Amino acid sequence: MSLTRRDFLKYSAVTAAGASGIPVFKSAMAMGKNPKTVVSHIPTFCEICFWNCGAIARVENGKVVKLEGNPANPESRGKLCARGNAGMGSLYDPDRLKHPMLNVGKRGEPKWRKVSWDEALGFTAEKLKSIKGKYGPESVALISHGSGASFWRYLLGAYGSPNYPVPSFAQCRGPRDIGYALTFGNVPGSPEQIDLANSRFIVLIGSHLGENVHNSQVQDFVEGLAKGAKLVVVDPRYSTAAGKANWWLPIKPGTDLALLLAWINIIVKEELYDKDYIYKYAVGLKELKEGVKNCTPDWASKETDISSSIIVDTAREMARYKPAVLIHPGRHTTWYGDDTQRSRAMAILTALLGAWGREGGNFFATKAGGFPKYPGLPFMPEPGKEKLAGDYPFAVDATTTAVRAATITGKPYPVKGWIVYGCNVMKALPNQKETIEAIKNLDFMLAIDILPFEHTQWADVILPECTYLERYDDIKVGKGKTLSVTIRQPAVQPMYESKPSWWITRELGIKMGLEAYFPWSDIEDYLRKQLEPKGVRLEDLKAKGTISYPDTAAPYITDNNQPNFDTPSGKIELYSRQLREKGFDPVPKFKRPEAPPEGYFRLIYGRNPVHTFSRTVNNKWLWELYKENELWLNAKRARDLGLNSGDYVMLMNQDGMKSEKIKVKATERIREDCVYMVHGFGHVSRETKKAYKRGTDDQSLITRYAIDPLMGGTGMRVNFVKILREV
Ligand code: SF4
Repeated sequence: MSLTRRDFLKYSAVTAAGASGIPVFKSAMAMGKNPKTVVSHIPTFCEICFWNCGAIARVENGKVVKLEGNPANPESRGKLCARGNAGMGSLYDPDRLKHPMLNVGKRGEPKWRKVSWDEALGFTAEKLKSIKGKYGPESVALISHGSGASFWRYLLGAYGSPNYPVPSFAQCRGPRDIGYALTFGNVPGSPEQIDLANSRFIVLIGSHLGENVHNSQVQDFVEGLAKGAKLVVVDPRYSTAAGKANWWLPIKPGTDLALLLAWINIIVKEELYDKDYIYKYAVGLKELKEGVKNCTPDWASKETDISSSIIVDTAREMARYKPAVLIHPGRHTTWYGDDTQRSRAMAILTALLGAWGREGGNFFATKAGGFPKYPGLPFMPEPGKEKLAGDYPFAVDATTTAVRAATITGKPYPVKGWIVYGCNVMKALPNQKETIEAIKNLDFMLAIDILPFEHTQWADVILPECTYLERYDDIKVGKGKTLSVTIRQPAVQPMYESKPSWWITRELGIKMGLEAYFPWSDIEDYLRKQLEPKGVRLEDLKAKGTISYPDTAAPYITDNNQPNFDTPSGKIELYSRQLREKGFDPVPKFKRPEAPPEGYFRLIYGRNPVHTFSRTVNNKWLWELYKENELWLNAKRARDLGLNSGDYVMLMNQDGMKSEKIKVKATERIREDCVYMVHGFGHVSRETKKAYKRGTDDQSLITRYAIDPLMGGTGMRVNFVKILREV
């Protein structure tokens, strides 16, 4: 591809698409091109992050030359973010995995032999069958991220294992979902069902929208602000969102729960809550009042470093705008180990403001019936053993934490095989030493990916998946305000020997004797079976990309649209008997976190708008825009240390772990007690040439983690670092 950086920047702002949403073969002459150029527009959905925006690929002579938003998609509304625009960088990355490979060296010291698909799948099938025979099917776990994972999960279900943990639970939004489920009996959703565009008062607690770009959410946020919504940003760092805020609350890290409890205290004490709503839909107000009675603004001020007058003012202001108040539930919520309780406090505050199910607050997803996930088979095996959820009563699925621990200890039963799909476990899980120890204990590790990231170098077999622009995947069912269905289909043929997951899993399943679970002949047959019950023709969906059902919207509470709360009481639980019965605080309580020792800073981390975790750092256009992460360091502390912006330093954490060098950004925009960097840099796989040794890996410094006792999440903001000058 010969697109220059200038060309790319021209395309990379969030721009409206001009395409019709229907694959068209335009006259090349009319487009000012060589008359022999064949142009087509293929609708699909983006996979550069999990938001899965509707996209249209413009293909010229078999090459994808541009990506645009699909206006037919009700979520992304014809727009893509910079990363979505740069999707071809993933397709045409020269470092892509090109062939199946077998490690004929030691684990972690690979000697790769290029093998045929038949050999790679035959070898894998034998290994998996052998583990099943020796230890049982539960001894193989799938750790995954991304759309193709649904096929792998299906294969693992047919194999008989209940263990398919995802870092998006225990390292990301799990505490949030459990905190809200304990309160409302329902979760905030993904994408979150939040009515930012209609909010009159928005509260962001550690959510840096704009740096963390989820396309439709950012569009809604901008619309809400343009319509005059007031904004509170609680963040130790003056983020991009803080730059738009009416109140920036530079909170002492780890004390967000104290602030939330003080806000709740003021709202209940001054009776500012939505009385009709609470009396009708909630239980436990009396116990809540009792539980927060000592959480006064003065108390919270001492804990949080935020003046009590600002705490009072912001509480009163948010109550003034109720119920059109959006307490953003956050996304990456694994911070300090008390995260489910912090999320529960956010849910309680949302309830007091009457915002759940109300315009400008949290809306209800459409209740319309969706599409069946798979052609239903009545004979999927029942797993013989319980999933590895750990000793965490509210973990809904197997957790990465418990699977990794079982792989190391063999308890409660051994895990001997890992299938790692689209997930760099070295960057996603805290404490890389434990991850390596676990991997060394395995009998077999399979990695399926697009690029040779570091975790693939620990595998026994690597299978090259094709990119989202070369493959079909499962349909994407949108359950936002309305029901919608979006297709992923190939814009171009798979490059090299790469294959889609639907094909790989089917072939592997057949080699393992599981052919009865794969009754479809090919992916189009499979998709037709999913679409038929709703009367959708595959051809129509392929042409439009997205079909939506606007008449299915019922986002707010009305007389005819009453809420269901799937809690034991059938109401919103301000006080949780479930928690009390399991030995946890029924009303959240604040516990002061450990402070950084003298000379150390707390390490916090976040996102950059042009990168997705660690996955895009090798994408040449995104790499051009942000090549390496920087260390945000308070300007005064930088002066004290004799450091200037642009100087390189190293970091050492409380356990003596040293980082690669990182460039300093001395700034007033961060508190003095913490430093910040963007997650996902400092790759050590030489095979990803652009990403190799660019910036620093925050995860290499996250050797400590605080486990959330409710659901097994790993709080990762509990590490302290010291700045070392010598590099
Ligand atoms: S938010 Fe951006 S990267 Fe993510 S799916 Fe949408 S366009 Fe793609």
